[in-house]
Amino acid sequence: MDESTREGLLYDKRPDGKVKCRVCPRLCVIAEGKLGTCRTRQNIGGKCYTLIYGKVVSVAADPIEKKPLFHFHPGTMCLSLGTLGCNMRCLHCQNWQIAHADALEDGGQLRVLPPEKIPQVASSHGCQGVAWTYNEPTIWLEYALDGARACHEHGLYTVFVTNGYITQEALAIIAPHLDAYRVDIKGFRPETYKFLAKIKDVQPIFDAAVAAQKEYGCHVEIVTNIIPTVNDDEETLGSIAAWIARDLGKKTPWHVTRFHPYLELSHLPSTPIETLERALEIGRLAGLEFVYVGNVPGHPAENTVCPNCRRIAVRRDGYSLGEVNVREGYCVFCGEDLNIVQGDGLAAGGSGAGSGRG
Ligand code: SF4
Repeated sequence: MDESTREGLLYDKRPDGKVKCRVCPRLCVIAEGKLGTCRTRQNIGGKCYTLIYGKVVSVAADPIEKKPLFHFHPGTMCLSLGTLGCNMRCLHCQNWQIAHADALEDGGQLRVLPPEKIPQVASSHGCQGVAWTYNEPTIWLEYALDGARACHEHGLYTVFVTNGYITQEALAIIAPHLDAYRVDIKGFRPETYKFLAKIKDVQPIFDAAVAAQKEYGCHVEIVTNIIPTVNDDEETLGSIAAWIARDLGKKTPWHVTRFHPYLELSHLPSTPIETLERALEIGRLAGLEFVYVGNVPGHPAENTVCPNCRRIAVRRDGYSLGEVNVREGYCVFCGEDLNIVQGDGLAAGGSGAGSGRG
């Protein structure tokens, strides 16, 4: 057993020698020698082990806008970490080579990055924070926890870019150590999630997002990748928008992003711009103050517009910042609260540190 194989934090031992993992709502019951659905947790001798502690596949310095997070330390760079495995199996997964991989057959992709070394790597890459992203960080619970603690000790912010499929127990362990929770909401009906991501129950995703914000004080932003014929109907988009406005608040950013044909959804067209603009309208009609169009560089709905005075608070072009009219999270023109957690990268009256990094 190497150092990346650690006993899991949340599981039950069963009299029949199987283990029941409680990290995500799949609640896998795993027989001796077998792996859970995420392909990263194994029953070894009647105990549940994570096989990916401290093992990373992807390490990159990204603008925070790329996550996308538009209201959280805009203009800063964050160290992005990913590993193998996922607890969903999305038909259009952009990172399927790692997310659908098996930790026992990593093919030499994994390398070791101990959690205590993360802050040093982040600083050497000019990053002000760290994001667990690319694959699903929930299944990396033990490593993310130790890494997030180390980051906070060094004054770095911490971000989960997540599908949100996490148990309340696991959330209670990690969320107190997270500053931002960027969650995908892929649909509103269970059938959509069953088709797209191969999961049955969706309520835990909504409940976790609300708890991350209300109980643990995380900054929350929502992303919906709008896929033609799958989740682009008015009822779905209206339901998501209404849920955000009601349960997370009207100042919670909603990113509606363009889908491009990929993997098992290669037969579908790219999302028409009109569909994204209709989603924008639906979000605004629901009362949401910050709705963004994503994956359409140069679209005017990349900018943050003050919901009170209607002037541009942050001008963006892709991942780059232009004009910035925000001070300590408030509009410099009228004083409106923009729900922006402002870091060193964004200063009123000029361009953010992310400018030109595209
Ligand atoms: S984290 Fe993995 S092993 Fe645990 S319940 Fe979720 S999919 Fe199953």
